[in-house]
Amino acid sequence: MKKVLILGSTGSIGTQALEIIRNNRDKFSACGLSCRSRVDDLIAQIREFAPESVCVGNSDDAKRVKSEFPEIDVHYGDAGLVEIAGMDCDIVLNALMGISGLAPTYEAISHGRDIALANKETLVAGGEIVTELCREKGVKLIPVDSEHSAIFQCLEGNGGSACARAYKDDAGDGPDRAIRRILLTASGGPFRGRTLDEMRDVTIEQALNHPNWSMGSKITIDSATMMNKGLEVIEARWLFDIPADKIDVHVHPESIVHSMVEFMDGSVIAQMGIPDMKIPIGLALNYPDRLSLIPEFSGLDEDRGSDGSLDFFTKGANLTFEKADRKTFRCLDIAYAAIREGGSAPVVMNGANEELVAMFLAGNIGFTDIPETIERVMDKSGFSRPGTVEEILAIDNESRIMARKMLKTE
Ligand code: MN
Repeated sequence: MKKVLILGSTGSIGTQALEIIRNNRDKFSACGLSCRSRVDDLIAQIREFAPESVCVGNSDDAKRVKSEFPEIDVHYGDAGLVEIAGMDCDIVLNALMGISGLAPTYEAISHGRDIALANKETLVAGGEIVTELCREKGVKLIPVDSEHSAIFQCLEGNGGSACARAYKDDAGDGPDRAIRRILLTASGGPFRGRTLDEMRDVTIEQALNHPNWSMGSKITIDSATMMNKGLEVIEARWLFDIPADKIDVHVHPESIVHSMVEFMDGSVIAQMGIPDMKIPIGLALNYPDRLSLIPEFSGLDEDRGSDGSLDFFTKGANLTFEKADRKTFRCLDIAYAAIREGGSAPVVMNGANEELVAMFLAGNIGFTDIPETIERVMDKSGFSRPGTVEEILAIDNESRIMARKMLKTE
């Protein structure tokens, strides 16, 4: 029985993970849960899963939960997330949104807990110190992001040492150089094929309308700007210890091939499947074994054949690939530039992006203000080499302030 701490249990990844736990009670228990604002949802989850500890957004919600469930350990706020991250468990599923995932991940790793990582910002902002600590503690860092789960699966069993360095115990042993490049696939998002002018006046609703994946609002906007793919290039760089110039983005609108790895002999291995996050979540939680996930989908999903499989005569019959339009979707190049610069550059980029996406979702700025302002923040920032979580969070905060000032909304 694996004890799973789910950080962000009321979000898209968190609820799907709980669905997996519900259907596999013999394998998993949810020992800890957390939410920021959806406390009613969390209370329903507490009733069903009976965790030992929870974390909520603020002290009022904490009092409310404590009065209803006096036997439970209740934490709150950012400090509470770090406290609960240190609890006794077998694996921490980090499904938090944005930079808020960094400090709890770091804490859980320092306690030697394995991590199922759905929070890519942890590695974008803290890749160097997080992977370093994983090696020191012998912690497995298992990707939940669908592309990175795909790459992880393509590398498994291919020369052994071709596995992600981040989850290897033997310090200093990088990936097998048998990897020639990683082909990171992207759906292209809802605005694929549009010009910059055609994107200036898009609405929040249009940007939130992702063609293939149902996800939280922050990541869906990131997919529309393609910053999500930029963040994923940086995430892959750290997870697999591979230089960013060996990571090629391929737009693949069908989202069936979740990514590929090309090896030195010219062999290319791809991982495929229906776009469903339960597959990478289930593999990360049950690694190295797979869960039986197909029967529960059967007949429920128009993407699937009648028996629940990926059907290569319908959905999987036409798999297409195209080059990313980097002129229109500037965020991709901004992310490559940030990882080339290294140090705090990805922190600055990520902080500005998070702030600008929140402002766009609040209706305060236009869609194309996001890439334009990130670029201006990057141009104006001096870069350093942060060595602690605290330093990274301070840089993140400065970058947000700079982005807000540039758009004069404060
Ligand atoms: Mn992804």
